[in-house]
Amino acid sequence: MKHVIIGAGEAGLRAAIALRGAGEQHIILLNGETLAPYERPALSKPTNDHGYHRPIDADVSGIDARIGTLAVDINPVARSIRCDDGADIFYDRLLLATGARARKLAMPDMTQALTLRTASDAKAIYAKAEPGGNAVIIGAGLIGLEMAAELNSRGLTVTVVEAGPRALGRAVPALLAGMIVERHGEAGVRFLFDQSVQAIGPKTVTLGDGTILPADLTIVAIGVEPNVELASGAGISCENGILTDQQLKTSEDGIYAAGDCAAINHPRYGTMRFETWRNAVDQGSFAAAAMLGSTEAFTALPWFWSDQYNLGLQGVGLHKPERTTIRRDLTDGGVLLFELDEDGILQAAYGLAKGNLVAKDIRLAEKLIERNAVIAPENLADQGYALKSALKSSAQV
Ligand SMILES: Cc1cc2nc3c(=O)[nH]c(=O)nc-3n(C[C@H](O)[C@H](O)[C@H](O)COP(=O)(O)OP(=O)(O)OC[C@H]3O[C@@H](n4cnc5c(N)ncnc54)[C@H](O)[C@@H]3O)c2cc1C
Repeated sequence: MKHVIIGAGEAGLRAAIALRGAGEQHIILLNGETLAPYERPALSKPTNDHGYHRPIDADVSGIDARIGTLAVDINPVARSIRCDDGADIFYDRLLLATGARARKLAMPDMTQALTLRTASDAKAIYAKAEPGGNAVIIGAGLIGLEMAAELNSRGLTVTVVEAGPRALGRAVPALLAGMIVERHGEAGVRFLFDQSVQAIGPKTVTLGDGTILPADLTIVAIGVEPNVELASGAGISCENGILTDQQLKTSEDGIYAAGDCAAINHPRYGTMRFETWRNAVDQGSFAAAAMLGSTEAFTALPWFWSDQYNLGLQGVGLHKPERTTIRRDLTDGGVLLFELDEDGILQAAYGLAKGNLVAKDIRLAEKLIERNAVIAPENLADQGYALKSALKSSAQV
């Protein structure tokens, strides 16, 4: 069977490796970027990870990887793909793993600002990140805050401008977002909430209230948009992402989607697009199995991490502010938060502490969420209560 994968980010690469591992012989992996696949998380954490450009450590032997080749058109009837070099490639199964791109501000002078999605974006940012300079980051999401920490550690004066009333609005409970902002404040990063941007100049950012901020470097970090144009041009159903069923199959026969570009039908959450590293890894491998005939549903829970200064943040499940939240304080000043639904079932868990300290508990919480576990709130709040024991007692749930 001929397999073609469009996009060699985490999702596309994992799919190609899984297909090869299953003994498939004809695997073509197309990538519009001219670099071999690399880890995007390192782009905003270079100090932690020893450099922003970290190639993904993967063996691509046996895979026809065409780096620097863009797919420009899909013909689902002929089952063919037109590439930007004029070549037509035929497929039996096609995976769309086209990822996402940084969202831009809708203003003409956006060209004065940089965004961060690719290694070349990172190169441009760090080339302008002179110690002693002023940086303005527009957007207090995870990437904006990681960049704030990174630029602060490089000796820049950093101001974060956010349209909403707080940082990390969508993904992270307010309590932990507040702790992270406090840590930034200790480092000297300034936050301006509820502020719009009126203009971006070569050396300034003008806010909605007329304030002019000095800016040697302006970064817009206001989220991403999924790359769906190739799919929608081929008549594949798309909304905020390429729509798939529970097996990651799109509306066109033989065509699948995975990773940041895919809005999947998740049994737990309904139509949902995830934008995290592990989701891309999981969905890539899962799509490969589906392309080979598996009929299982994709049920993995969303999990993410973020590193800022010496703090490690992790979360699993989907945050909903209206849920009952149980707080567990950890001895080193760290915090775990557990979100319960109206039936007392654990639905999401978040942790913030030094380094990797919350990793084990978040891993256990993930298993508990998968099992729809009900745990007494007083146990969740008690640092002496091992989540492992809840796992044992919830084994039959
Ligand atoms: C700066 C940064 C930091 C991050 N940090 C974290 C983190 O700490 N934790 C976390 O969980 N997640 C993090 N993420 C998110 C995570 O990296 C992404 O969710 C993940 O990389 C998505 O992988 P993907 O394969 O779906 O898409 P992508 O990595 O976007 O790969 C898609 C690839 O497809 C290519 N492509 C698109 N269209 C075509 C076409 N027509 N033809 C050929 N090729 C095409 C693109 O050029 C791209 O190379 C971070 C992301 C960024 C940008």
